[in-house]
Amino acid sequence: MSAVGCPSGGVHGVPRRRESVARIHSMTIEAPITKVINMINVAQESSPATVVQALDKVLEILRTSELYAPHLPPQLGRDDDPMTSDLVGGLVSQNMKRRMSGNESQHQRTAHHGHPQSLTPLASLSQIPEHVQSILEREPTWDFDIIQLEEATNKRPLVYLGLKTFARFAVCEFLSIPESVLVAWLQLIESSYHDSNHYHNSTHAADVLHASAYFLECERTKTVFDAADCVACLIAAAVHDVDHPARTNAFLVNEGNQLALLYNDLAVLENHHASLAFRLTHKDPSVNIFQNLSREDYRALRQSIIDMVLATEMKQHFEHLSKFTHSINKTVLKCEDEASEPSSGSFDNETIFQQLSTPENRTLIKRMLIKCADVSNPVRPTHLCSVWAERIAEEYCQQQTDEEKERGLPVVMAVFDRKTCSIPKSQTSFIDVFINDMFGAWDLITETPVVTRAQEVQTMCPMAACAAADGLSSRDLDRKCSKRDVLRLKNVSVLKKPGVN
Ligand SMILES: [Zn+2]
Repeated sequence: MSAVGCPSGGVHGVPRRRESVARIHSMTIEAPITKVINMINVAQESSPATVVQALDKVLEILRTSELYAPHLPPQLGRDDDPMTSDLVGGLVSQNMKRRMSGNESQHQRTAHHGHPQSLTPLASLSQIPEHVQSILEREPTWDFDIIQLEEATNKRPLVYLGLKTFARFAVCEFLSIPESVLVAWLQLIESSYHDSNHYHNSTHAADVLHASAYFLECERTKTVFDAADCVACLIAAAVHDVDHPARTNAFLVNEGNQLALLYNDLAVLENHHASLAFRLTHKDPSVNIFQNLSREDYRALRQSIIDMVLATEMKQHFEHLSKFTHSINKTVLKCEDEASEPSSGSFDNETIFQQLSTPENRTLIKRMLIKCADVSNPVRPTHLCSVWAERIAEEYCQQQTDEEKERGLPVVMAVFDRKTCSIPKSQTSFIDVFINDMFGAWDLITETPVVTRAQEVQTMCPMAACAAADGLSSRDLDRKCSKRDVLRLKNVSVLKKPGVN
C-alpha cells in the first residue's frame, strides 16, 4: 500500500522502512548467492578500476536466475545446419513455436491411452519360461538384446526384465514387499505404456532400466550410491516415460493439450510420467510397492524418483550437463591429478568417493545416470542402435509431424518429415549435439564399453576400414580414433541404407 495520505507514512515511514531492511539484512536465512554477491561487493571496494569493471560483469551474470543454463553456441542454431537447429529447437528450446490458427480449444485432447495389454499370469521369477530365461541370462552385459526379449515376451519385456533386474538388486528386500506385489506393479506400469508407439513404449522403458542397472554395477557408482539410490534409479527408469503419447512437449503445448494446461507448459510429459507413476502405485495395496516403507524413507525415495524423471526433460539437458561437469568431473579430475603427484600420497579412490558421496553430488550423478540411460541407443551394439534410430524417426515422422501437418499445427521438427527424413543425418546431429559431450563426462564415472571396442569399430567405420587397409592394429586404431569420431562414423556408416538419404 502507498504511504501517501497514510498517517504512518511520510517522515515517520522512512526510518521504519530502513529498520525493516536492516532486520532483513541481519537475518541468518541469507541465500548462498547473496553471500557471494556481498563478498564481491566488499572486494570491489579495495580493487583497481579494471577489476571493479570485471567484477561488475560477474555480478551481472550472477543476478540472472538461470545460472546453469548455458548459452548455446551459435553453431547449434545456425541456419546452414537445419538438422541441428531443428533438433535443438524441437527438444531444447524454451520458445515453443506459436500456433498459426487460433482454435486451440477445438484441438484439446488428453494424452492417448493405449489399449491395456492383457495381464500375464506370470507370478514370480521362477515361472519365467525357459526361452525367456535364456535371453535374460545376458542381462548383466551391455550387449544384452532388448529387441530379442521384446519378441520373446510378446512386447512385455519390462515385466520380465524388471523381475530379473530388481531381484539382482534385492529391491523386494529393500522395500519389504513380497515378489507378488512387485510383479503386479510391473504389470500395471508396463500396461500403462502404449504398445502402439514406435519408440516410447515399454521396450524403451526396459532398455533404460537395463542401461541404468548396468551403470549401477560400475565401480564408482557402486561405491558412491547406497541401496536407496539404487532402488530409486531402477524405479525411475521403469516409470520414466509411462503413458507417453508419442508426441513431444512442444507438440502438447502447441495444441493446448490438457496435460500442458495442467502443468502450465512446464516439463509437461516428465511431470505427467512422475505423477502418474505414483498415482498408479497408490491405486491399490496389491500394487503398492511403497506400502511398507517408513514415512521418511518413502519421502526420500519419492523425491529421488521424481527428480530423476524430471531430469529426462531435454530442455534441461545443457543445464544438467553443465552442473555435472562443474561439480563431478572437476572433483574427480582434481583428485586424480593430486593422486598422481608424488608428494601427495593421501589422495586415492577413497578420497574421490568421499567427495562424490555428498547428497548433492549423488543427486547430480543420479540425474546423469538416467539421462545417459535414456539416450544410450547410439552407444549400444550396432544392430540395436539401428533399430532404435528407425523407431524414433518413425515415431517423430508418423505420429507427430504427419499429425501436425494434418491439423495445421506448427511443425516442431521439420527434419522429421517422412518425405525428406534422413536417419543417418538426424542421428549424427543428435550425437554431435547431445551424446558426445554427455558420454564424455559420464565416462569419468563409468566406462561405456561399446565405444572403445576397436574390433567392432573396424567392421563399420570408414576410418577404421582405411586404417585396416594401412595395416594398423586395433590398438593403433583406438589411439587414432577419438570416441567422438567412433560414435559419429559408426552411425553414419551403419545407418546409411539403400534408399535412405
Ligand atoms: Zn525415455
